[in-house]
Amino acid sequence: MASIFTKIIQGDIPAHKVAENTDYLAFLDINPLVMGHVLVIPKKEVDYIFDLDDETYLGLHAFAKEVAIGLKKAVPCVRIGTAVVGLEVPHVHIHLVPMNTMDDLNFSRPKLHPGTQELEKTAELIRNSLLER
Ligand code: 5GP
Repeated sequence: MASIFTKIIQGDIPAHKVAENTDYLAFLDINPLVMGHVLVIPKKEVDYIFDLDDETYLGLHAFAKEVAIGLKKAVPCVRIGTAVVGLEVPHVHIHLVPMNTMDDLNFSRPKLHPGTQELEKTAELIRNSLLER
């Protein structure tokens, strides 16, 4: 069965997309740790990041870097933290989290539940910032 992220890639379920090319997609986490929390995925459906072929693994990180640079301009913060967890969704994803304190990257903390409008506003800021690059 297709992962929930493959369904997002296919457009079967909605997501607040911020960047996309033929092989990778970045979109907002629906329950962010902080506003601006982005997930970066390969379109290839693989569960575990270290099972990716080298080309996809390296390409994913290059794509994540571009998104992170735009994200930091759109959501001012000390730096963008990254994490790979994957315990919930079995489709490789890198978390990009705008950080001001160490606690911003604490996955044990309760997540936020922003509304669609707030998510879309944030996604638009990030998309515009990426367009300026
Ligand atoms: P992990 O697998 O790394 O533990 O966490 C998966 C992440 O995906 C979580 O932060 C969760 O909020 C996010 N997530 C789960 N389902 C969806 C979804 O349908 N849409 C979006 N945008 N994010 C999701």
